[in-house]
Amino acid sequence: MDADEKRARLAEIAREIARCTDCALCRNATKPVPGEGNPDARIVFIGEGPGFYEDQQGRPFVGASGKFLDELLRGIGLDRKSVFITNIVKHRPPQNRDPDPAEIEACRKYLDAQLETIAPKIVVTLGRHSMQRYFPGESISRIHGQPRRKGDLIVVPMYHPAAALHQASLRAVIEADFRRLPDFLAKTLAAESPMAGATQAPPPHLRKQPAAPPAQEPAAAAAAPALEPDPRQMRLL
Ligand code: URA
Repeated sequence: MDADEKRARLAEIAREIARCTDCALCRNATKPVPGEGNPDARIVFIGEGPGFYEDQQGRPFVGASGKFLDELLRGIGLDRKSVFITNIVKHRPPQNRDPDPAEIEACRKYLDAQLETIAPKIVVTLGRHSMQRYFPGESISRIHGQPRRKGDLIVVPMYHPAAALHQASLRAVIEADFRRLPDFLAKTLAAESPMAGATQAPPPHLRKQPAAPPAQEPAAAAAAPALEPDPRQMRLL
């Protein structure tokens, strides 16, 4: 699918979400919040569910945690138009309570369809509930910031930005996790590129310098030091 076809399909999914009555969340919601951003994004961020401001505006992450998410994105040279941002449930849970498992399950088909359409390289889960989609039973404090392959995707679980707003010590943690994203993306793209072979070491008799190390697995990449954002990588988003 090209970007226009993806945009059209995402709009169709948003219309299906607006008509959805498969769980009770739609009854108290003001507006559905399907998600927004680049239909061809390399990175998709998945939060928990719309809060008060998101419900009013029909847009994800526009309240306090959204402002912090914007800041985190800016810190790595991105903005919300270059990525896609959505949630595990598309209508606001009353009083911002956690979405329950039946609500998450009822909404799963929409998130599945969005991800199938966008076909990103990397999914970043924000908070426990979206982490559970990929890593049931895991603990966010144990696996945050560690990229793991799930089929065709690299999934990076991260703390929810709201957690960092409530607990000051988590702010530096989520900032550090974000700073590693450009590196994960560059490595993922390099591993998939048809030119990947061109970066392999030449035969020993042609080597002037020690051979470059082999491309790292994402898990090994997790141990790599954080890189400053590279504008060339960012253009690929
Ligand atoms: N928190 C979320 O998880 N999602 C939003 O859209 C806003 C706040």
